[in-house]
Amino acid sequence: MSLLKNKIVFISGASSGIGMACARAFAREGAKVILAARRRERIEKLALELKEAFTTESKILSFDIQNYQEIKESFASLPEEWKNVDILINSAGLAQGMHKLQEGNPDDWDVMINTNIKGLLYLTREILPNMVKRESGHIINLGSTAGHDVYPSGNVYCATKFAVNAISQSLRIDVLDKSIKVSSVDPGMVETEFSVVRFSGDVERAKKVYAGVDPLTPQDVADAILYCATRPKHVNINEIILTPVAQAQSNFVVRKTT
Ligand code: NAP
Repeated sequence: MSLLKNKIVFISGASSGIGMACARAFAREGAKVILAARRRERIEKLALELKEAFTTESKILSFDIQNYQEIKESFASLPEEWKNVDILINSAGLAQGMHKLQEGNPDDWDVMINTNIKGLLYLTREILPNMVKRESGHIINLGSTAGHDVYPSGNVYCATKFAVNAISQSLRIDVLDKSIKVSSVDPGMVETEFSVVRFSGDVERAKKVYAGVDPLTPQDVADAILYCATRPKHVNINEIILTPVAQAQSNFVVRKTT
């Protein structure tokens, strides 16, 4: 029987990309899923799809992860038994804009910092105490190669992912005596809605990010996350860095020219 059968898996960022791929991958393994994002209609549709495909039980939570009060109220609305989350996948995150710092927009910085750092902290703060009480659980954070090395005009986004890297390392120490696992899964280029969001809906510009590269798919990243979540009880995967074959670190990419 799958190790994940009936486990409760909370996935932020479930309305798109890596979070959505994780929802499908974990549901296929028999997990129960809590799907969180702002776009309620998307996660409702996903919940139906998972029910039909795998008879998955799910809950839908629609909140803006930048708002701690909204997170608290949403989490409190769950039935008691669903509050005992076994695995939290912190996938909600974004880049907004790509400018040299001297030309950057402080409003974009606020959104990235509030989502990628503060949002991840708020949600983890809400879910972790029940794991600590039960001395069991697994937090899986979506970091990035951008949390290991920087790229031009990546300043604030890279800073948020360096922060996620630090939070994962530090959290691992905080819960060391509680049998709680903490993993960081850090991809390079993954083709999702990430670049469309970064460039405010400019699909053509977003396509250029992946031109001439065979990028990672969201399923590739979900596979790595599933691997972390299915190791024996005594094994913690601290970190996985995965990139397309054509990419080394954040800033070295070889593109095929046709
Ligand atoms: P995506 O397709 O754009 O998905 C991002 C998800 O985050 C969406 O479900 C979105 O949901 C959610 N989100 C964004 N802002 C939110 C907010 N304020 N409140 C609640 N949810 C919010 O991008 P992705 O590539 O899957 O990104 C997932 C994670 O992987 C991010 O942390 C990203 O930094 C990281 N990552 C991505 C790449 C890449 O190349 N794509 C590489 C390395 C790391 P709603 O808009 O519905 O709220």
